[in-house]
Amino acid sequence: MLKDQQPVMHEGVFSEYAESDLVIFGIPFDGTVSFRPGTRFGPQAVRQELDGLETYSPYLELDLVDYKICDLGDLTLPFGNTIKVMELIENEARSFVADNKKTLAVGGEHLVSYPLIKAHLEKYPDLHVVHLDAHADLRDDYQGEKLSHASVMRRVFDEMGAGEIWQFGIRSGTKEEFGFAAKNTVMQKFDLEGIEKIVGLIGDQPVYFSIDLDVLDPSIFSGTGTPEPGGVSFKELMNTMQQMTSLNIVGGDVVELSPHYDLSGVSTAVACKVLRELALIMVG
Ligand code: MN
Ligand code: MN
Repeated sequence: MLKDQQPVMHEGVFSEYAESDLVIFGIPFDGTVSFRPGTRFGPQAVRQELDGLETYSPYLELDLVDYKICDLGDLTLPFGNTIKVMELIENEARSFVADNKKTLAVGGEHLVSYPLIKAHLEKYPDLHVVHLDAHADLRDDYQGEKLSHASVMRRVFDEMGAGEIWQFGIRSGTKEEFGFAAKNTVMQKFDLEGIEKIVGLIGDQPVYFSIDLDVLDPSIFSGTGTPEPGGVSFKELMNTMQQMTSLNIVGGDVVELSPHYDLSGVSTAVACKVLRELALIMVG
């Protein structure tokens, strides 16, 4: 298990597993990616960049050094066996949740959220899922495949049922997916408006917060497999996250960074900042 290994050292930000409140780990998996692969390189790129990032967030006025955060490195995964990968991820996440850790995963493709959310649901049956994405991810299957990053929220729905999935920024999907969302999830199309209402409704119930980075506009985040024009700005995302500090976020993930599609490295820098802010709203 990851928690039995030596954590990754970061200057100033380091905690042993046993004393940590939040556990960060990478999931370098892109086995079901439909268009352009490469998200398996996401965690590695983020980790390289992370040490150059300021630990202090002027947006939240919080500093990573003031919290007990443990970076456990990346999972080792058997490629070519999606079901086995799902089991491995779920088992790891379950062990963190059982130890009362908050979990923060770095993708990898979006399908990794499914086993992560499953592990949290066991402990938190009243879990809410807040989902930021360009894509609805509500297909029942993708070319016959039930386990696909295009189906991740549909699989989550199968586990938890209606009314607890809150989707924002969605601007791409099939007619069926939007029809499904109208009946079964709460979906804000195109932007992140209305987050403050959701925060009020959820109150102190546990939340899993999944950020598919392609919710951002490709002009600031081109390093992803299925870019969609018309996305939100970085500032909009920061404003939204600032409004979520009161939520009880027990699990989170930042997925779909595919670093090699952006040779400038900007997308990786953006992903790191989003990760820092997410870590801070989880522990702060
Ligand atoms: Mn997605
Ligand atoms: Mn997406």
